[in-house]
Amino acid sequence: RFITFEGIDGSGKSTQARRLADRLQDVVLTREPGGSPGAEEIRKLVLTGDPDRWSAETEILLFTASRRDHLEKTIAPALEAGKTVISDRFADSTRVYQGATRGDLRHMVDKLHELMIGREPDLTFVIDMDPAVALERGLARKSGEDRFEDFGLPFQETLRHGFLALAKAHKRCVLIDGNRDIDDVAADVATQYAART
Ligand code: C5P
Repeated sequence: RFITFEGIDGSGKSTQARRLADRLQDVVLTREPGGSPGAEEIRKLVLTGDPDRWSAETEILLFTASRRDHLEKTIAPALEAGKTVISDRFADSTRVYQGATRGDLRHMVDKLHELMIGREPDLTFVIDMDPAVALERGLARKSGEDRFEDFGLPFQETLRHGFLALAKAHKRCVLIDGNRDIDDVAADVATQYAART
């Protein structure tokens, strides 16, 4: 099975992805952008350097290229070997970050996904979180490496609504209230996971 975690920066999705992975056996925990050597190289190209280096369209191509490599090299082989794959972000992040926040490029995101990826997760946890709290958390652990984390509150609000809309639109999505103690959120994720497997 292929499980993904989605949410805004600082929502706690990475922690929750790890917590679920810790409970399971035969599991591969991976992340996007990245998750394979080639895709990690593309991650560096996109997330560091001059923010204006890439147009929105080129950025979508780069994220899709990195996802394609991640799928070929990491996700598909693990699923074929009968493992459970948990990815911290996947295509929903591109739908929200690039599709909904940089002009109406959602159509392009969807077309490319259909053409080059063609796979959806079996189950997606969307960790919802108050953007003000998430932003504080994000800034607290900010490494300075990711230019994307510099965006302010209104941007985070837009992203949050993008993720909420996705969670509503797809049956594979489970909306999780991330505004709670980490252990409570993890217990909720575990319960929902058990109910859907
Ligand atoms: O989840 P993680 O913190 O590793 O993501 C790195 C950065 O990439 C985030 O700050 C996020 O805003 C950005 N990102 C993006 N578009 C995506 C995926 C991630 O802008 N499709």
